[in-house]
Amino acid sequence: MSLPALAEISLNDPLPINPDLKKGKLENGLTYYIQKNNNPQKKVELRLVVKAGSVLEDDDQQGLAHFTEHMAFNGSKHFKKHQLISYLQSIGVKFGADLNAYTSFDETVYILPIPTDKPAYLKTGFQVLADWAQGVEMKAVDIDKERGIILEEARLGKGASDRMMRQLLPEVFNGSKYAERLPIGKEDTIKQFKHDALRRFYKDWYRPDLMAVVVIGDVQPDDAEKMIYKYFSGLKNPVPARARPEINIPKNTASKTMVITDKEATNNMLMLRYPLEKQPTHEVIGDYRQDIIRNFYKSMLNRRLGALTEQARPPFLGASAGSEPVVAGYDSFVATAILSPSGTQAALDALMQEKNSVRQFGFTAAEFDRAKKIEAREYESMFNEFSKSNSASFAAEYIRNFLTNEPIPGIKNEYLYFKEFAEGISLEEMNQFAKKATPDDSVKLMFYVGSNKAGESTPGVAELQDMAAKAEQKTPEARAEKTVSAKLMTTLPTPGQIVNEKENKLLGLVEMTLSNGVKVTLKKTDFKNDQVLMSARRAGGMSLFSDADYYNAFYSNPVVWAMGMGNFSQKDMQETLAGKSANVRTSMDNYSESIGGASSASDIETMLQLLYLRLTSPRKDEALFQSLISSQKELARNSWAHPETVFTDAITTTIYKDNPRAFHPARVEDFDKISLERSIDIYQSRYGSAKDLHFIFVGSFEIDKIKPLLAIYLASLPVTDIKTEYQDLHINPVQGIVKKEVLAGNEEKSTVVLSFTGPSTYTREENMRFHAMVDILNLKIIDVLREKQGLIYSGGMSGSFERIPQSRYGIDAELPCSPENVDKVITALFGEIKKIQQSGPQQEDLNKVKQSWLKAHQEELRSNESWLNHLQGAVYYKTEAEAILSVDKRIRAITPAQIKEAAQRYFNFQNYAQIVLYPEQKK
Ligand SMILES: [Zn+2]
Repeated sequence: MSLPALAEISLNDPLPINPDLKKGKLENGLTYYIQKNNNPQKKVELRLVVKAGSVLEDDDQQGLAHFTEHMAFNGSKHFKKHQLISYLQSIGVKFGADLNAYTSFDETVYILPIPTDKPAYLKTGFQVLADWAQGVEMKAVDIDKERGIILEEARLGKGASDRMMRQLLPEVFNGSKYAERLPIGKEDTIKQFKHDALRRFYKDWYRPDLMAVVVIGDVQPDDAEKMIYKYFSGLKNPVPARARPEINIPKNTASKTMVITDKEATNNMLMLRYPLEKQPTHEVIGDYRQDIIRNFYKSMLNRRLGALTEQARPPFLGASAGSEPVVAGYDSFVATAILSPSGTQAALDALMQEKNSVRQFGFTAAEFDRAKKIEAREYESMFNEFSKSNSASFAAEYIRNFLTNEPIPGIKNEYLYFKEFAEGISLEEMNQFAKKATPDDSVKLMFYVGSNKAGESTPGVAELQDMAAKAEQKTPEARAEKTVSAKLMTTLPTPGQIVNEKENKLLGLVEMTLSNGVKVTLKKTDFKNDQVLMSARRAGGMSLFSDADYYNAFYSNPVVWAMGMGNFSQKDMQETLAGKSANVRTSMDNYSESIGGASSASDIETMLQLLYLRLTSPRKDEALFQSLISSQKELARNSWAHPETVFTDAITTTIYKDNPRAFHPARVEDFDKISLERSIDIYQSRYGSAKDLHFIFVGSFEIDKIKPLLAIYLASLPVTDIKTEYQDLHINPVQGIVKKEVLAGNEEKSTVVLSFTGPSTYTREENMRFHAMVDILNLKIIDVLREKQGLIYSGGMSGSFERIPQSRYGIDAELPCSPENVDKVITALFGEIKKIQQSGPQQEDLNKVKQSWLKAHQEELRSNESWLNHLQGAVYYKTEAEAILSVDKRIRAITPAQIKEAAQRYFNFQNYAQIVLYPEQKK
C-alpha cells in the first residue's frame, strides 16, 4: 500500500478529521459519528455517549448516575422491563445492565452491537438508543427492585484495593468534588434515595447537547444519518437547562506523604504523583507533532525502568512513569514501583535516579534511534491494518474524541505526519522536551500503599520522607550507551527440505512434511493485512516427569524465559528486535507442550529465528534465575493476603484432596524446590527435539516466500527420539457430596462454588449439547437469580468437556453474594437445574443460545486466531478439520429434549462439591 501524495503540511493548519468519517451535529446539539466499516461483516456498533457521570450528582444523588444506567435496561417507552434484554438475546446479542454499559466520573456510555442480517434489527437498535437517551421509564417499583442488585454490585467491589483507594483519591483530587463522587456511590443513598432524585438526574443531564451517537459498521452512511435524524432530532433540551459545571481541581501547592496499609493488600507499592496539569490541546497539526514527542518520551523512560528489573537484585519488581489522564481535562505525572525484596529505599533511589537523569541529561542517541524504530513499526502496522480495523476500535476512538477531544485525523494522516515529522525531531529537541516534561520534586504526593500484616516492615510517614530526601539528594548519572548485537543469528542453520506437499482445497490448506519429519499446515488468509500466527502442540507435558520434579517441570518455561536465549537476555533481545514485530512463546501443561508465535507479514523470518533459538539455545544465567525466584516468592507471599487466594486453594484441596499434581496457587516454599539445572534439563528434553511437532501457520503470507524459510528454520530442527504420548496422572475429584466452608476476608462477602464432575463420552455433538446446557443455565442465572430475585450482581457457570487423559466433564458455578443469601442462592440455582432436568429448557432460551453461537461462528470464520485454534485442535486430537464447515448445522440440530437429557446426565445431586467463602468473622 502506498501513502497518498504528500501535500504541504503546515504545523498551524487545523487537525483534520478522518476523511472516512461523517461527523455532524443535529440542531438540538446532539453530535454524531458515522463510518462504514466491514470488519466484522453484517454488524454495526452503536454507541450512546452521555457527557454526564457521577461528578454531576447532587448531594442526594450519590451513586445515581450509575443507577440511571441500570434503569435503562428496566423498561422504556418501547421496551417493557425484561423485554429489551430478551429481544437482544434473541437476535444474538449478549446483554445485561453493565455488560454493555459503564458509568464513570465524567461520562456514561452505552454499547450496542447490532447484527444487520435483517434491516429491522438496525432500526430497533436505533430505537433502543433513542429510548436510552430520553425514554427510560423509571417506575417506582422497578427502581426499588434495582437497589438490591446495585448493593450486590457494590459488595463485589469491596476489598483491600477499594478500601485503600478511598483514602488515596481525596488527595489525588485535592478536595474537589471528584473526591466525593465515586461512581458506585454511597450505600445509604442507594438504599434510601427518593425516586425523584433519580428522575431529576436523568432529566437534567440526559439531553441532546451532552450526547453523541456513534454508528460504525456494515451500513451505508447516508442511511445511518437518516436514521439519526429520524430517531434523535425530536429529543429536547430541558428549559431552562442546568449549566453543566466544569469541575476544577485546585493545583497542589504543598507536598504530602501518606502510608496507606491494609492487611489484605496483595503488594507493596510506592506511588509518586506530581501536580495535576490541564491536558494538552489538539487543535492544529503541530499539536500532533507534540504528541509524537510525548510518546517517544514515555516509551524511552519506561524502557529504562524496565531494564532495571533485569538483574539479580532488582530495585523493584516493576515500575512505570509518565503523564497519564486522571479525569476529564486533567493529566498528572505519576511514577509507581512495585516493591521487591530490596525494599523501599532501593525503589525510591532507582525511580529518582531515572527520573532525574532524564531531566538533567535526557536520552542517548542510541535510545532515541531505537524508539523511533519501534514507533515507526507500530505506525506501519496500524497503517497496513487500517482497512481491517475492527468497528469497535473505531467507536472507542470517536468516543474519546467526543469526551476529551482526542484527535481523529485517521490513520492515513497519522502515518503521514509520523513519516513527515519523526525523522526531523532532533535529540536536542527531544531532550529539551524531557527537561520540561519531567517534574522536579518541590511539590508531590507520595504514597506508600501496601500490607501491614504481621511480619511486614512498613515505613512510617517520617521515615518515608527521609528516604525520599536521601533519594532526591543523589546526583543523577548520565546513562551510558549500551551496544547490542544488530542480528539475532549470525550463522543460519543448514536447511533441510520439504519432502512432501499436498493441498486441501476444501479448507484452503497446504500441508507439508519436512525432511526431519516435522509437519506444517499453512492457511493463507486475508482476514488481516499484516498478521501471521503460528502454533504447535504435542502430547507429553508435565505428565512425563515424576512428582519430585513437579516444580521444576511446572516452572521450566518461566525459568528459561527469564534468562533469554542464544547470547541475549530478554531485555537485550528486545533492543535487538526494535522495529520488528515478532514473538514466540513456549508453555507446558499437564499433558502437552505448546509453542505459539505471532509476527507481521514482513517479520516472519524473525519469528522463525526466535523459534529456532528458543527451541535450541536456552540461555543459562544464574543472576536472572535468582531474580525470578526472589520476585516470584515476593508475589506468592503477597498473594496469600487476598481472601480469593485462600479460597482458590481450599477449592483445590477439597476437590482433589492432597493430590500433589492438582494445581494450587503458588506458595513461597514452592520456589525452593526449583533447580536451575534441572529446569533447563527438562526444557531441553522436550523442546530440544522436534519429533512429532506439527506447526500451523495462519495469516497474510505468501506460500512461495514462506517455503524456503520453513526449509531453513523448521526442517533443520533437531529430532531425537523422545516420548510423545502423555501418561495419565490420575488427578481425579472426590466422589459423593462434599461440603466445605472457608473463612477469609474482612468484608461481608461470600462466594458460592458448586462443582459437578464425572466421566463422559466425547462426540462433537455431545460437546455442543453440553455447552448449550451450560449457556442456557447462565441465562437463567441472570434472569432469575439476578433480575427476579436480586440475589446476585454477577456470576455464572462454566463447563469443560475434556478428552485427555480421559473423557470427563466438569461444571463449575461461581456466584458471589451476601453471606446471608448463600442458602437462597444455592436453592435457586438447584431449582433452575431441576426444572431443566424435569421439563427441559424453554425453546426461547435455546434459541437465544443458538443465535449467539451462530453469530459468533460467523465472525470466527474470518478470524486468524479461531482458524489457528481449530486447525491446532484437529491435529492434536486427531480429528477432521473439515468439521468447521458443519458447525452451523450442528448448532441448529440441538433440541430441547437433548438439553433435558444432558441436564439429567451431567447434574448428579449425589455427586458434587459445594465450597463457600464466608467472611473471617462469620455471624
Ligand atoms: Zn452497575
